[in-house]
Amino acid sequence: MKEMLGEARRAHRAIGAFNITNYETAVSVIRAAEAEKEPVIVQLYMRLFDTGKARDLAPTLRAMAARASVPVALHLDHGSTVRQAEDALAWGYTSVMYDGSRSPYDENVKWTKHVAEYAHALGATCEGEIGHVAQGDETALTDVDEAVAFAKATGVDALAVSIGTAHGYYKAEPKLDIPRCAAIADALPETPLVLHGGSGTPLADVRRAIEAGIAKVNIATEFLDTFIKASLKVYGDLNGGFVPPDKLADPIIDACSAHVTRLIRFFAGRD
Ligand SMILES: [Zn+2]
Repeated sequence: MKEMLGEARRAHRAIGAFNITNYETAVSVIRAAEAEKEPVIVQLYMRLFDTGKARDLAPTLRAMAARASVPVALHLDHGSTVRQAEDALAWGYTSVMYDGSRSPYDENVKWTKHVAEYAHALGATCEGEIGHVAQGDETALTDVDEAVAFAKATGVDALAVSIGTAHGYYKAEPKLDIPRCAAIADALPETPLVLHGGSGTPLADVRRAIEAGIAKVNIATEFLDTFIKASLKVYGDLNGGFVPPDKLADPIIDACSAHVTRLIRFFAGRD
């Protein structure tokens, strides 16, 4: 992930990081990336690491990534314990986020540095977060000086920053603090910045954020919503009939892939 994000940052583009939950969502992301000839990040939310799902999916995801015609990173999203990061790397995920953004600064530095050193020893990438991207009501915009100190103290390869986005869908249109993003990027010219809460953020704002140093855009809610809506349609249309579930999955995968394709093209500056 470090390599693809470094290149993206230098080229003022971003890599899409899509949260998958199963085979269908995973294959839809990788197919879209292959068709667009762009690298991509397949990421799994930390909950899946505590329930065995990320462990069980790992061999399939590794095989799919290895076979893909484009670079595919496999990433732990919002790791909340050292154990999740250790498990992810043991199971073959190539990148881990340690999110200590709700902890006091010193705690966040201590554990993020620990996970970054562990990941680096295995040739893997580590993302950290400073400031806190809203999850519910709690939020804290990233302070520029604190971001610089945090990046230097922890050695993270990518830094999630809080510049006005929020997780989940928005109740009101978000206002992104682009000057803050640009100031962080100027102070950390080598560190790719990560935008969490991409779902529903106006694309014009996402474009400005990418120009200001964002190199990874996380997309979870709106992509998984496409999976749910396409599934409801396909299963509804069955109307009591029988079709083998693998065939039922094909139009759902196509709908998810179309969603990913749109965003990959946009993040790469091609649309
Ligand atoms: Zn996030």
